[in-house]
Amino acid sequence: MTEERRANMVLLGPPGAGKGTQAALLVKAYGLLHISTGDMLREAVSEGGPTGGELSSYMNTGKLVPDAIVTRTVIERMAKRDAEGGVILDGYPRTRPQAESLDSSLDASGRTLDVVLYFKTQDEVAIQRLSGRRVCKDCGKNYHITNMSSKKEGVCDICGGELYQREDDKPETVKNRLTVYEENTKDLIEYYRTKGLLQEVDGGLPAGELFNNIDALFKKDGLI
Ligand code: AMP
Repeated sequence: MTEERRANMVLLGPPGAGKGTQAALLVKAYGLLHISTGDMLREAVSEGGPTGGELSSYMNTGKLVPDAIVTRTVIERMAKRDAEGGVILDGYPRTRPQAESLDSSLDASGRTLDVVLYFKTQDEVAIQRLSGRRVCKDCGKNYHITNMSSKKEGVCDICGGELYQREDDKPETVKNRLTVYEENTKDLIEYYRTKGLLQEVDGGLPAGELFNNIDALFKKDGLI
């Protein structure tokens, strides 16, 4: 049964750490709103608006989209009513200025950040996951060719849509994304540790086991 919770959390960790998978499990368990900047930006690209081309030029090469664009997207989304019951920020913040903008925005709306889950993950694990990831063109569900395959190859179990490989999951871009993560996002680990918000979890664990650990952690800390 889904329960209503008012926690605001950030999922921090390299691409391929399993943040999206855990976010989906957390949504199901606690009824929080999942805000994935990667998903929102991909949607903006597929809608083909005026900024679509510019966004995809960053994303397809594994570079970060400029802070101002991403922050505006997140803050607008967090201002909507369905964000009042608590949010899971997945893929945001990714830089120190983004983290500071998030703090100001939460402050201004009388909200707080309750926990930052840091998914500590080895590069080899992240690379194996990203290179085997397949995504449904229609409903966005993620699969993995060996770890979590669809029943019928290339076809989504849920909606029958076609599965594809994200442009930025191709090997040359994956390496760049991990480097970009090291250079920008690692700084945030200290930022949140200093604030006493950081909780480290093992991103290398299978999804079910990791979820059980996170659930136990939240219960211990009275977060849910
Ligand atoms: P993700 O799905 O989280 O791996 O994000 C895919 C791509 O979207 C990233 O490689 C970036 O190009 C862009 N992106 C997502 N979130 C952010 C962010 N917080 N700041 C800058 N770029 C982002």
